[in-house]
Amino acid sequence: MTIRLDARLVPIYQDVLHRNPGEIEFHQAVLEVLESLGPVLTKYPEFADKKIIQRICEPERQIIFRVPWRDDAGEIHINRAFRVEFNSALGPYKGGMRFHPSVYLGIVKFLGFEQIFKNSLTGMPIGGGKGGSDFDPKGKSDDEVERFCQSLMLEMYRHLGEHTDVPAGDIGVGGREIGYMFGQYKRITNRYESGVLTGKGTDWGGSLARKEATGYGLIFFTQEMLKAQNDSLEGKKVVISGSGNVAIYAIEKAQQLGAIVIACSDSGGFIVDENGIDLTTVKRLKEQERRRIKDYTEYHTTARYVSDSSIWSIPCEIALPCATQNELTAEDATMLVNSGCIIVAEGANMPTTAEGIQVFQQAKLRYAPGKAANAGGVATSALEMQQNASRDSWSTEYTQSRLEEIMVGIHKSCFDTAKEYGDEGNYVLGANIAGFIRVARAMSAMGLI
Ligand code: NDP
Repeated sequence: MTIRLDARLVPIYQDVLHRNPGEIEFHQAVLEVLESLGPVLTKYPEFADKKIIQRICEPERQIIFRVPWRDDAGEIHINRAFRVEFNSALGPYKGGMRFHPSVYLGIVKFLGFEQIFKNSLTGMPIGGGKGGSDFDPKGKSDDEVERFCQSLMLEMYRHLGEHTDVPAGDIGVGGREIGYMFGQYKRITNRYESGVLTGKGTDWGGSLARKEATGYGLIFFTQEMLKAQNDSLEGKKVVISGSGNVAIYAIEKAQQLGAIVIACSDSGGFIVDENGIDLTTVKRLKEQERRRIKDYTEYHTTARYVSDSSIWSIPCEIALPCATQNELTAEDATMLVNSGCIIVAEGANMPTTAEGIQVFQQAKLRYAPGKAANAGGVATSALEMQQNASRDSWSTEYTQSRLEEIMVGIHKSCFDTAKEYGDEGNYVLGANIAGFIRVARAMSAMGLI
């Protein structure tokens, strides 16, 4: 892979490698942002003088702690949990918690780093943070998940607060887990502090449309990318990886806007249904019964299940990776380009490898990074915080219209910034520069913090 770094940024990147050994996903996320920042240092030399980039690459605070819990048979288990409070120049740390066996410090730091720029792009008053644990919720009973969440919050509560750090969900953390964590926070602190967690149930402080927000927001963003080329979603063939929170609501909105979603997946494999995925079945399997995507074929005989090849081998016009990091490789990117794909927009965080991104950019395919395209989730979380602060509850229609407005704004900001810096259509450049400048200006104004 070719590294395209401005000479002034090379020592900064080398320092990141040296100070954070083995954290390969964090290195990857930092490099992707630094590759865009050369022209910014030329335009704003004060950011170099004030070492803003070096400061942004170092989290403000990193918390690592033990989470002991008992399973249903009475056996004790020990997990490790993290909260990385990366940057609070724009507001309280904001970013989800991930429960997955692959979680370690490097994953949490990559996610927290991305979150700084994503949150900045929303234009809302939220800083960047992220957390998680190597706990695997798969196959655990509700009681086990509850005991784990309670034990985790027994340590994490002291670092949180509606004006300090506000976690939400991510992979493996949905409404159930947020409920257990909120209940435990309330019990420990004796405070009904609604704004301390987002993604809450709509009966007790959650925002309508939060569950749908990341997936819907992704489609609103994709629609703007198409409009910029005088095109629309109507009749487009779409492939979406994953079948979790982001994927399900991306499928829903894409279908509402006339697209035909023909494939989706989980970590076991993918299903292809040329008639269009039946979302009712996917929702029942995934949201209610916690089953595998393979079981879809039991209900739809025209569909096929594939577990020995990549979902990106299925020809489509629009590809939306919505599962996990580095799920779309250079080989996958080449297959997509060769099969006529015109747009790739990321619902997941950093799902495309650095080599994959280069393939897309060389082919001049329009490619939107997650920090822009999936920002609808955190934007709606910020709307949830606004409702909590004013003890108000907005309608679904109003919340969705705010979400759409925010996604249109993010698209415009990325598009216009890329154009201003001489590379129209380069959403990576646009997102990184627009996201960075807002944070850098705030840090610059606040003195040496
Ligand atoms: P969920 O846990 O709801 O769903 C994740 C989906 O991805 C599941 O279908 C899962 O399959 C699949 N998946 C997870 N790990 C792997 C893997 N290693 N290989 C293949 N498939 C995998 O998570 P979300 O939908 O919430 O999150 C998906 C992505 O979107 C993540 O990158 C997350 O960071 C990002 N994101 C989420 C936001 C949100 O609001 N939820 C906001 C912004 C970004 P299986 O069930 O088999 O594990």
